[in-house]
Amino acid sequence: MTHLQEFNELMSVSRRVVIVTHYKPDADALGSSLGLGAFLKKDGHSVSVITPSDYPAFLNWMPGNDSVIIYGDQTSGKIASLIEQADIIFCLDFSALSRINDIGEMIRKASGKKVLIDHHLEPEKFADFEQWNPKAASTAGLIYEFIIELGSREKIDSNIAECLYAGLLTDTGGFRHSNTRREEFMIASDLVSLGANPTKISKLIYDTNTLERLRLMGFVLSEKLTVLPEYKTAYITLSLEELKKFGSQSGDTEGFVNYGLSIEGIHLCVMIYERKDEIKLSFRSLGDFSVSELARKYFNGGGHKNASGGSSKESLQATLQKFLDILPEYKEQLLVAHV
Ligand code: 5GP
Ligand code: MN
Repeated sequence: MTHLQEFNELMSVSRRVVIVTHYKPDADALGSSLGLGAFLKKDGHSVSVITPSDYPAFLNWMPGNDSVIIYGDQTSGKIASLIEQADIIFCLDFSALSRINDIGEMIRKASGKKVLIDHHLEPEKFADFEQWNPKAASTAGLIYEFIIELGSREKIDSNIAECLYAGLLTDTGGFRHSNTRREEFMIASDLVSLGANPTKISKLIYDTNTLERLRLMGFVLSEKLTVLPEYKTAYITLSLEELKKFGSQSGDTEGFVNYGLSIEGIHLCVMIYERKDEIKLSFRSLGDFSVSELARKYFNGGGHKNASGGSSKESLQATLQKFLDILPEYKEQLLVAHV
């Protein structure tokens, strides 16, 4: 953490703390927020965890989930005053205030000190304190390292360990992605010794499918996955109507993009799917092909080298066409990418 001494002085008395994470939080976003929140409560701080949107039901098991304040018509006033009155605001697992809709502007204007804890590329400079490392596989791992840096390992109980382990597990794709370093295993090992149960957490995260999600996955794999061998690329498109037809819920499409990338010889996969007010793109790549550059240049997005996202205000079909039109620019890189 930058300016650690100043941070410690600030936190030496009971503070009003707000923790915010990104839109449509995943296990890393929610797990790191709830883990940090539970840790700070132990020091007598009053903590509110805020999410800019709802999140998948398969994350509801996380200890502390019941106290999360989800942004919406009913809660926007309360959230505005919590942010305005906060002494300190932690921003977890996102790198730019523009990624968290109205809440981003509230935070920008707030007088409380800001802390960024994140592992995405090219962070915006808005924070007074930063724990930023793009090599770290997860924000949850950064929270663990932060607590260790504070000399407070003994305050990590099994609830905190579970929240952090969940983030570490999912952001490494089950310790399989190229971001899995020696450090991820060291952190995971210590979290297990502090009470995280790997079997229980894997079951809660990966093996709690609804029948609807499995049917949707079957449909996607058999009807919607297209391969372009000449570009070593695969893509999936999903309209709102298709999602509705399968009764899908928030988060049901998570992980589908990895199936495209699992095809032998494929170096890039994108899933393009419709949301109520925009089209979202979810990119995955192997080796030295950077989807973060592509997402930033053409789809108003970013993320990590091998896992990025973006959005589009055009139609699903037009967004797919735009993607297909830019592929020739990347053809050479895609063919030679070292995987
Ligand atoms: P996913 O495909 O799982 O939604 O996102 C992959 C990664 O890209 C995540 O780390 C996520 O935070 C980031 N990401 C997703 N959408 C966007 C976006 O619209 N803008 C930026 N800057 N990053 C994104
Ligand atoms: Mn993350």
